[in-house]
Amino acid sequence: MEDKIKFMKEALKRAKKGLAQGEVPVGAVIVHEGKVVSSGYNRRTRTQTAISHAEIYAIDRACKKFGSWRLPECDLYVTLEPCPMCMGAALNARVRKIYFGAYEQKGRSMTGELAASNLLNHTLEVEGGVLEEECSEVLSGFFRSMRARTKQGAAAPAADAANEGEPQS
Ligand SMILES: [Zn+2]
Repeated sequence: MEDKIKFMKEALKRAKKGLAQGEVPVGAVIVHEGKVVSSGYNRRTRTQTAISHAEIYAIDRACKKFGSWRLPECDLYVTLEPCPMCMGAALNARVRKIYFGAYEQKGRSMTGELAASNLLNHTLEVEGGVLEEECSEVLSGFFRSMRARTKQGAAAPAADAANEGEPQS
């Protein structure tokens, strides 16, 4: 199996962990020298904090592990195209490359612009569409079931997310 597929599957595992907890399923891992060194998944509903994105956890844990705010030999794998906050975090951490799965459909990501902007004297490579179908399906399955539950009138903890159609990242 190609490495990027293998590591995106690892990110998907984390997304599904979030899914099991009723979170918008987005997962991320950081890879260093062919090994997963940290991971995270979206926990926005549980924590009720705006920064609880999968990538933030993965980056923070990798920094702690290496005892450094720089992660220059590290690649980030995330199941959904990163939001501007997470792109900013990845640039600040000097991540080498980002692989993402599903494309953010509403043009809110600015991924390419931020990756190439060199605002922090750092540019990073971005490759989208890795295991795109699987990554998209996990998300759209979540929103389908949210809508079904909302229609039934059941209390849906992340109903706001379904209404906004806003995935975590
Ligand atoms: Zn984000």
